[in-house]
Amino acid sequence: MTDRYDVVVVGGGAAGLAAAVTLGRSLRSVLVVDAGEPRNAHAAAAHNVLGREGVDPRELLAAGRREAEGYGAVVVQDRAVDARREDDGLVVTLAGGDVVRARRLVLATGLTDVLPDVPGVRERWGADVLHCPYCHGWEVRGRRIGVLATSDNAAHQTLLLRQLSDDVTLFLHTGPEPADEEREQLEALGVRLVRGTVARLEHDDALRAVVLEDGSRYDVDAVAVAPRFVANADLYVRLGGEISDHAFGTYIASSPGGRTDVPGVWVAGNATDLAAMVGGSAAAGVLAGAGINGELVHEDAEAAVARARRALAPAST
Ligand SMILES: Cc1cc2nc3c(=O)[nH]c(=O)nc-3n(C[C@H](O)[C@H](O)[C@H](O)COP(=O)(O)OP(=O)(O)OC[C@H]3O[C@@H](n4cnc5c(N)ncnc54)[C@H](O)[C@@H]3O)c2cc1C
Repeated sequence: MTDRYDVVVVGGGAAGLAAAVTLGRSLRSVLVVDAGEPRNAHAAAAHNVLGREGVDPRELLAAGRREAEGYGAVVVQDRAVDARREDDGLVVTLAGGDVVRARRLVLATGLTDVLPDVPGVRERWGADVLHCPYCHGWEVRGRRIGVLATSDNAAHQTLLLRQLSDDVTLFLHTGPEPADEEREQLEALGVRLVRGTVARLEHDDALRAVVLEDGSRYDVDAVAVAPRFVANADLYVRLGGEISDHAFGTYIASSPGGRTDVPGVWVAGNATDLAAMVGGSAAAGVLAGAGINGELVHEDAEAAVARARRALAPAST
């Protein structure tokens, strides 16, 4: 590890490592700083990852780290705690005390899932408490699925899960009453609607039941929740960036390739695209890496022209 890189990538999940591979393959010097807490760490398997279907998420990232390092990227386990701009680029401070400089910064910091505050949700998160029917819906197909409503998206989420099981119960909890059209659809599909606040999810080594405050108990095998998705954007704010609001949380706005409004700062993966899965996050990392290299080759070419002109200029007397 040195103190100066073409690019510092903060976050070594799918997005950050893919950016590092792309940049390394373009012979850019890259540092990846990773705190080692990928969002899907609680899940035993990652699905819809073409060619690696059902892979252990940590095994996938270990392979990605090896691939990035194979192209010369330096990957360190640490947390970036500050970022600021100086004349010669961006300066990133790590919790371990290192200070590194870069021409470009990629924020691949992911997001934080803010879970509903119901006992049992956190304990079973990533196992039989899930949020994404595409990630883990198939695993609970045909089982007894509850949906914990906390927003007006719950009816849509319920329909997605009803596609996978004919035993689905929508617990209205803190969510709004479904609109008439939604209620008609849910009832026509045999979805049970349960009104009342959920007190807890009963579980031992597996989820057992949803228990309401009035004491009523409903046996379930899985529960779907809708976390609030909050982009990990502290460094972006420190650099003067503004966080954007989304119906499902917050995100760092960017161009389709990942360029942000803050010069030199790029973003990829869940920090900018709350719905991106592993494949989409990796693809965004590749795009950001390519976009940055594209910028740097032009910057390098302009610098080369300036040097050539200086060399040709008559020496001043
Ligand atoms: C329970 C669960 C199951 C999922 N299952 C699937 C699935 O089956 N298939 C699928 O495609 N998707 C799945 N996903 C979504 C998947 O986790 C995300 O798409 C993916 O992790 C996004 O990649 P990322 O690189 O943007 O962020 P992350 O993977 O979250 O990586 C971000 C990294 O940045 C690090 N970081 C953050 N801030 C800093 C900092 N300041 N300094 C240093 N490091 C920092 C974090 O520690 C983390 O390692 C699941 C999500 C959840 C919550």
